[in-house]
Amino acid sequence: MSSENTDLKRVSIESFNSILGRVIPVLDRGFIRIIDYMGDDSSIVQAARVSYGKGTKQSKQDAGLIDYLMRNDHTSPFEMCEIKLHIKMPLFVARQWLRHRTASVNEYSARYSVLHDEFYVPNISRICAQSQSNKQASGEALPPQTAKEIISTIKSVSKLAHDKYKELINLGLAREIARNIIPLNTYTELYWKIDLHNLLRFIKLRNSSHAQYEIRVYAERIQELLKFWVPLVYESFVRHNDM
Ligand SMILES: Cc1cc2nc3c(=O)[nH]c(=O)nc-3n(C[C@H](O)[C@H](O)[C@H](O)COP(=O)(O)OP(=O)(O)OC[C@H]3O[C@@H](n4cnc5c(N)ncnc54)[C@H](O)[C@@H]3O)c2cc1C
Repeated sequence: MSSENTDLKRVSIESFNSILGRVIPVLDRGFIRIIDYMGDDSSIVQAARVSYGKGTKQSKQDAGLIDYLMRNDHTSPFEMCEIKLHIKMPLFVARQWLRHRTASVNEYSARYSVLHDEFYVPNISRICAQSQSNKQASGEALPPQTAKEIISTIKSVSKLAHDKYKELINLGLAREIARNIIPLNTYTELYWKIDLHNLLRFIKLRNSSHAQYEIRVYAERIQELLKFWVPLVYESFVRHNDM
């Protein structure tokens, strides 16, 4: 293995660069924005070939090698790629999101700044009864009239809580205590940086019928982004995860 490689160039994907910074809407007020990325399919192949030696280079095409790594859980080459996202999501989604510990995170500080009065109001299709078979899930749709009343309650209670929050701030109360009355559907924002191996794990767990719809839609969008960033990984991931 030579210690010098004058051919090395920083990976830059034109089609992916063109969507950097663009807002990808999710839910009623949320979004995902790509801030930055490192690596692409070739970075995974390059790292794997360092492990396997030059012989592998002749015998395997990139797609085949990536698929082999995916099938056999040779995960470390996937860690050579990273992505940084700016995500806006309701607090209850962030609570689930932040369980994925293998990422670097900075969240909007409600101690430092006043929260915006932006809250998630579910679409009528999400106004469902508690599932009878799954304690963590929604079941059948509720009757339309009941659903309308529920949406109206969600809106009015959220607005009242945010109005009262602002009143507390105006009374001079510290933001870190005033936020106690803020509902879980309030939007927050994160900068989230994660390597591709752990991102695939996040997508597998959250773009799943077991995950709550409100986080699943974010995971779905992120999975779609893989097509433009690491298309060979995307194909292999979908093939082996039955998606
Ligand atoms: C559908 C669904 C329902 C869920 N329901 C609940 C629930 O009811 N209550 C609840 O509390 N959580 C729940 N979770 C969260 C779940 O238990 C995990 O915390 C979350 O999915 C993150 O997964 P992870 O730990 O694999 O990810 P990461 O934190 O990103 O970790 C990735 C991997 O790194 C390793 N790792 C990371 N940190 C450690 C560590 N400290 N020690 C050892 N190994 C480590 C593990 O191998 C881990 O799998 C749910 C998740 C899903 C997808």
